Amino acid sequence: MTGSDTGSVPRCLHCKRPLLHTFVDLGMSPLCESYLPAEKRNAMEPFYPLHTYVCDGCWLVQLEEFVSPQEIFGEYAYFSSYADSWVEHMRRYAGMIADRLHLGRDSFVVEVASNDGYLLQHFVKMGIPVLGIEPAANVAKVAIAKGVPTLVKFFGAATARELAAEGKRADLICGANVLAQVPDPNDFVAGLRLLLKPRGTVTVEFPHVMRLMAENQFDTIYHEHFSYFSWIACERIFASEGLTLFDVEELPTHGGSLRVYAKHLDDPRPVTERARQLKEREIEAGLMRLEAYAGFAEQVKDTKRKLLDFLIGAKRAGKKIVGYGAPGKGNTLLNYCGIRTDFIDFTVDRNPYKQGKFLPGTHIPILAPEAIREARPDYLFILPWNFKDEIMKQMEEIRSWGGKFVVPIPEVRVFE
Ligand SMILES: [Zn+2]
Repeated sequence: MTGSDTGSVPRCLHCKRPLLHTFVDLGMSPLCESYLPAEKRNAMEPFYPLHTYVCDGCWLVQLEEFVSPQEIFGEYAYFSSYADSWVEHMRRYAGMIADRLHLGRDSFVVEVASNDGYLLQHFVKMGIPVLGIEPAANVAKVAIAKGVPTLVKFFGAATARELAAEGKRADLICGANVLAQVPDPNDFVAGLRLLLKPRGTVTVEFPHVMRLMAENQFDTIYHEHFSYFSWIACERIFASEGLTLFDVEELPTHGGSLRVYAKHLDDPRPVTERARQLKEREIEAGLMRLEAYAGFAEQVKDTKRKLLDFLIGAKRAGKKIVGYGAPGKGNTLLNYCGIRTDFIDFTVDRNPYKQGKFLPGTHIPILAPEAIREARPDYLFILPWNFKDEIMKQMEEIRSWGGKFVVPIPEVRVFE
């Protein structure tokens, strides 16, 4: 365990100012990727505070660091390849970016937090040399078996320096959903700069904090995500380490993400119009004023009350409720709201690594998707709401016995 001592004021991960303003406090929660095997169900389980702050110096929304990344990411249960629409999203990205940057056999693409090779495999198929960097050894092994060269390491300035010394600098460095999970964003961005060729491009994706706030996505807050970025906060951190953000795409993934493009300071490519407009919109939304962040906590409490109202009503009416999915975000939601097997009999997941285990904290059992057909629930409670369209299509057969879908975010909603 790392983090500050009891009673001392936490400091901003980027600018090191004291963090004095709560964004939202979700109470005590277990590590959301620590799925429990049956034999550990009766053992003690560590819970850590899930308290987020906003820095009034650089506007980075962040968690106080209580758990070391080694503890979290040494063995990671998330295999990217188990979500169809995510795999498709990254396949399209590979084609688009290879085209836009004219990547070919002489180029070099590095992905940071390359997971099971779900993205880099597409560059490999195009004949473009790649290297994945992935700290979770069990996940990296899957990538290597697929023919994606992978270095089992945490990424930062030290790793980048080693690679650059071996003459390995990249035309493209990509990172999808890694920036949020970095405990030291300054060191991470310094690493990007060191590893990037003089005219190279960095793209990173992260859930957009403006959408998180507008759409109540508090369940995307968990210990594995240290930071929650706006363009404004991201631009500041990159600039402080010598990289300029120059373009952005707004993506539907994870409830609304940004893919930002970065380059070296002396690279002449201009800042795009859509990047300028996004920054304008963030300023208009108040993301450089404390008041805009202050109302979020109350909105979250109200969402919890509405969700519990629905669940209590359904159980009083004798309904059977079963979960779908066992994503990290589900664990934040269930623990914060106190939803256990008193409301949800079990959940299912396509990832065999999770099947037979139990959700951290709530101990809801995780079964294979076939269990739904046997149970014939009245409500299927979709925890990964960002994949709700895909899941409702896959599970359409629940309608044959009158089953309905329930989605908890932005607020509880039943799909007939
Ligand atoms: Zn700060």
